[in-house]
Amino acid sequence: MGSLLRMILAPFRALFTRLGAGGGGYLCDRCKWDYGDACRRPERPNARSCPDFKGR
Ligand code: SF4
Repeated sequence: MGSLLRMILAPFRALFTRLGAGGGGYLCDRCKWDYGDACRRPERPNARSCPDFKGR
């Protein structure tokens, strides 16, 4: 069961890594929390990597 879960999650992990390490664009532009007061992180709106990032 554990390895199946890892297989299912692998593409999302890869995507997250690419978003965090990639040179183009900021995570915040694609983040679910990038509106109003939803996010108060200091790295907003120019986060290159963020533990709270969640895609919209
Ligand atoms: S949670 Fe992280 S990626 Fe999302 S808006 Fe806040 S700083 Fe940006």
